[in-house]
Amino acid sequence: MDAEQDAHFQLMKRLLVIIPLSTILILLILCIVLGVNLYEAKRELRELRDSAAPAMAMSQTSGDGESGVYTAAGVDEVRHGQSDADGDVPETGGGERKVYLTFDDGPSGNTGEILDILAEYDVKATFFVVGKEEERYQPLYKRIVEEGHTLAMHSYSHKYNEIYQSKESFVEDLTKLQEFLYNTTGVWCRYCRFPGGSSNTVSRVDMHELIAYLEEQDMSYFDWNIVSGDASSTYISADAIVRNCTANLQNYQEAVILMHDASDKNSTVEALPRLIERIQAMEDTKILPITDDTEAIHHISND
Ligand SMILES: [Zn+2]
Repeated sequence: MDAEQDAHFQLMKRLLVIIPLSTILILLILCIVLGVNLYEAKRELRELRDSAAPAMAMSQTSGDGESGVYTAAGVDEVRHGQSDADGDVPETGGGERKVYLTFDDGPSGNTGEILDILAEYDVKATFFVVGKEEERYQPLYKRIVEEGHTLAMHSYSHKYNEIYQSKESFVEDLTKLQEFLYNTTGVWCRYCRFPGGSSNTVSRVDMHELIAYLEEQDMSYFDWNIVSGDASSTYISADAIVRNCTANLQNYQEAVILMHDASDKNSTVEALPRLIERIQAMEDTKILPITDDTEAIHHISND
């Protein structure tokens, strides 16, 4: 082997080592860069979620001014319903259609009028209420019960960033509401509706954990399959509410309609008589309050 050949051989040997080594090095650098990017993205997502929760909670005040309770008919409450209805296979199997009118976030300046309309049509509904200690709201909690409607729990504070912080804070909030309602009305409530529904995306706690807690306590929760559209922060007309509520109603044997009882949601009140009339005009259809016989609509499965 002459000198030139030897040098060539040495070079080849070096290249054989350098090429795989540098390939590994490049891959390693790539991994680190990607890892850092992923970490950054996750951090930003966390920050976004943190800032979204309170923002959502405050996006709509109850309209009661000084009460300081936020009604937060959040994004999640808008998500479910009509769009679901379109995709769902209509339930078949005859029998009576059951329609549940449910009002979240009350009592409010509109509760009295809602109760008057329900009484006028002899219709019972379900109120998923929040905790309002002010004197003027106390008779409204009592009226809900006395007039045969179902008093149910939503959240004491309705502040997403507090109640969904941990299981403990959720339990604390719900217990506070349960005791408050018991002291006010003598009713020990067992029906709940999670703010934002069981499928909300703001909870830091796995919702299954909270659902398991409710089951342990012999409580049940109720989502919805029809949205009135009144959760939107922009104005929605009474006509649109009636349309939203009734467009797919015939597809369900059991329909749980989500509405809101808040002082700034006058079109909900305006829509109510027409909505009730439309439902009552449907064949084999009954408007009922939620009871133990109600088959609960759940957005996520229990396990
Ligand atoms: Zn709510």
